[in-house]
Amino acid sequence: MTDAIVFLGIQGSGKGTQAKLLAEHTGFQHINIGDLLREHISLATDIGKRVGRTISKGSLVPDDLVFELIHTSLHEDCPGIIFDGFPRTMPQAKHLVAHYRLARVYYLDLSAEQAIIRMEGRRVCPHCGENYHLVHHAPKQDGICDECSTKLVIRADDAPAAIKKRIEAFYKETYALKTYFEELGVLKSIAADNPVSEVQALIWADALLG
Ligand SMILES: [Zn+2]
Repeated sequence: MTDAIVFLGIQGSGKGTQAKLLAEHTGFQHINIGDLLREHISLATDIGKRVGRTISKGSLVPDDLVFELIHTSLHEDCPGIIFDGFPRTMPQAKHLVAHYRLARVYYLDLSAEQAIIRMEGRRVCPHCGENYHLVHHAPKQDGICDECSTKLVIRADDAPAAIKKRIEAFYKETYALKTYFEELGVLKSIAADNPVSEVQALIWADALLG
């Protein structure tokens, strides 16, 4: 079985950033379900067409499609996987435990209020896909992409109504996973309302022990 590490947390908790950093550090493959889905949607693949409408409304993607997406994206001979944005439901969590050796689940703990503030500041370049944040990673020129000078936009799923829906979905489904992983003895809670480097230090110190 392939080793797996999971980052769990409300949108805006910084789990994507931490997952990427830990992937570079360990050589594990970083699987970001949200990015994969957007890639498939923009390339208009079969999977992309099927999930396009669901994701733009801020709803969760069906489990079978998520499993299919992961399966088709794994590199051969990868030493391990870091999941980010997966699992989001109990059936997904059970699929994970059944198919991978789950080493650790990092729960990045952030309040809903903080999550909203972080998400509202996000901007993306519709041309090259570069991500920005008005507070944490502002473009050099207001509202313009540093890389290609295109006007930045708010992603459909970062619009206020979609944010509210995603937060509700998080508490309704994903939050229950925390208890499940706690009972399996693999959960480690990390306070996410700290600088990236501090959160990173806590995770790496723990991951090195594993
Ligand atoms: Zn750009």
